[in-house]
Amino acid sequence: MAENSKARMIRCPECFAKDIDVFMFYDEADDEFYCYKCCYTGTKDEVERDFAHFIDRKYRMRGKPHPAEVF
Ligand SMILES: [Zn+2]
Repeated sequence: MAENSKARMIRCPECFAKDIDVFMFYDEADDEFYCYKCCYTGTKDEVERDFAHFIDRKYRMRGKPHPAEVF
């Protein structure tokens, strides 16, 4: 298998946060990923950091007690 996995598929964190599943394009000239749907651009590190932020936020929201269960 001669597979070049340098430019792997990566999801857009902005769209993912809105429940839209979009794969970003990789721009070799700028070494950046960009989203055609929401104009998000970022390096691999930035995308991963934004993803971590989003997941962190989501987990924190889930960790909150349900309003109906608070008396
Ligand atoms: Zn996007």
